[in-house]
Amino acid sequence: MMVYDVAVLGATGIVGQRYVSFLSKHPWFNLVQVAASDRKAGMKYGSAVSWFIEDPMPSDIADLKISRAVPQDFKGIDIVFSALPTEVAKEVEMQFVKNGFSVFSDTSPYRMEPSVPLVIPEVNPTHLELLKVLPSKFGGILVKSPNCTSNVLSLSLKPLIDIVQELKLVNVVSLQAISGAGYTGLYSMSIHDNVIPYIKGEEEKLSTEPRKILGSIDGNEIVQRNLWIEATTTRVPVIDGHTVVVHVLVERDVDLDLVLKAYEEFSGIPQKLNLPMAPKKPIVLRNEYDRPQPRLDRNLEKGMAVSVGRFRLYKTGGVSVIKYVATGHNTIRGASGNTILNAELAVALGFLKK
Ligand code: NAP
Repeated sequence: MMVYDVAVLGATGIVGQRYVSFLSKHPWFNLVQVAASDRKAGMKYGSAVSWFIEDPMPSDIADLKISRAVPQDFKGIDIVFSALPTEVAKEVEMQFVKNGFSVFSDTSPYRMEPSVPLVIPEVNPTHLELLKVLPSKFGGILVKSPNCTSNVLSLSLKPLIDIVQELKLVNVVSLQAISGAGYTGLYSMSIHDNVIPYIKGEEEKLSTEPRKILGSIDGNEIVQRNLWIEATTTRVPVIDGHTVVVHVLVERDVDLDLVLKAYEEFSGIPQKLNLPMAPKKPIVLRNEYDRPQPRLDRNLEKGMAVSVGRFRLYKTGGVSVIKYVATGHNTIRGASGNTILNAELAVALGFLKK
């Protein structure tokens, strides 16, 4: 396998540190450049970052000099991973794309643009086909990962959609971790001993992104799935791991055993291709009455598995309500890990030539 030289924008942040940790030991990707804000440009990564994730800071990366996030400072980079703040991502990522770079990003700008793939590799790998035409439109490549909660919801809905096809209504309440707000996102005084019943912009993302992810390709665009999602998003005092409580209304009789079997057996292309970042099981079904729980389940499969459980079925007059709870690691499956897996899939499918 050929080795690709890669860079991370926003490398000192919560998501950026996850990238650094995974990429420092990646078999295909060689992390050679890191960028942060101009305030830190020129400093050594090791002295510029407040390292706070469990894995030790990779010593070779600690010596890298931090770059500015401008394309002219990135020569010979095959893949650019972006964990930039939303406010700067739109302009900066597009500058890289226009300069011919392949950008894999977990930020929100362009996620809903119909010609830009928004991908969870186990759910909609075929959307990467858009990469065949993207360079002629933009100059380079842009692949987006979903919002962290949209990821957990969309992945956890996929086995159900595979067997019942049409969902009438998805009603979801999220319990989102503190790290989802970024390193400087929340005051501890506001979240400690508390639940905050509102996260700006999150309900809009959660009720629209799954429609695109679960949609289909038509020519050079994604057509959204006709899917009604009602969402309430909340912040809870959990460090990592977003949980969603989901009630799905289906206008037909559903067999709960078939649903559970679909979850038990669910697998995707990353598993078939045995990609380095792929979990053995992207969805892990828990049968205990009190699982999944973020603290116990978020690190399963290096944080790449979404755990589901508490399946219940209510039926009345030809209508079924399937109820379940899902938990996934927001900065890994919900960000860096999903995005690295997207890049691996693009390489494996031949969309990224060196
Ligand atoms: P974060 O902890 O606040 O990190 C932000 C990073 O961007 C830092 O490396 C920061 O560098 C850099 N930065 C700040 N201003 C910049 C500028 N003007 N130009 C270039 N770089 C700049 O944020 P995060 O939680 O990692 O989130 C990063 C992105 O991922 C966001 O767009 C977020 O929406 C998305 N996302 C986050 C999660 C999550 O669970 N946290 C999940 C999915 C997606 P300095 O150290 O120099 O300030």
